[in-house]
Amino acid sequence: MTTASPTFTRKRTGEIRAVCLDVDDTLVDYSTSSRAALASMVGNADAWSLWQRITDDHVSRQLAGELQYESMRNIRTQAFFAALGEELTLEEATRRELGRQEVLTAGWCLFPDVIPMLDWLRATGLPIAAISNASGRHQRVKIAQLGLSEYFDAVLIAGEVGCAKPERVIFHTACLALGVPPGDTVHVGDRLHADAIGARDAGMHGVWINRTGPTGGTLPAGLSSITSLAELPELLVCELSAATA
Ligand SMILES: [Mg+2]
Repeated sequence: MTTASPTFTRKRTGEIRAVCLDVDDTLVDYSTSSRAALASMVGNADAWSLWQRITDDHVSRQLAGELQYESMRNIRTQAFFAALGEELTLEEATRRELGRQEVLTAGWCLFPDVIPMLDWLRATGLPIAAISNASGRHQRVKIAQLGLSEYFDAVLIAGEVGCAKPERVIFHTACLALGVPPGDTVHVGDRLHADAIGARDAGMHGVWINRTGPTGGTLPAGLSSITSLAELPELLVCELSAATA
């Protein structure tokens, strides 16, 4: 634990009695490491959007039971190169994917505002869950290697639960694991629709962390936004407790 100290009790927070957190690009600087890993495999990161689109498609197929986790990433990488006009054997796609994963794993790191916020949350006594749309067990390895495991009372991985944000089921499963109703729970994540709006529609308090800063657009109704996790304690203490008073 670091120097963070509790500044509220459960009674003072009103209805907020639990906190859920997305993992990638909320706690872990995933995009930076993933872009670097893609660049190491392709030679540049120009195909990032294509990579994301093909990855999302294959993760959805895995969640639907069409693909197994063990083979999904290799088949995805084969499809990615095919989209770039290069037909690979599955063996060659697997070899390249393994190389990409080595670079990716070596690049995992937390945003600097994560541990102080988690220490503060832990000091409040509020239970904490991670809710990730990752596809498989590598996410638990990542959470453990980055020293996050000790902070979470529950970890929900889409590939294990069988559904992904913004579906209500995964949010409600997290609330059930924490023993707190959705209406008393905050969820914070970097994806506006999957995280913040999904949580709101599941009956939770949806908080969008937009690390790039305000975009000038109007925030959808019923949401809160922050640009850093350092803002979360104040949001929980002031805005959300006032809103639920
Ligand atoms: Mg995320």
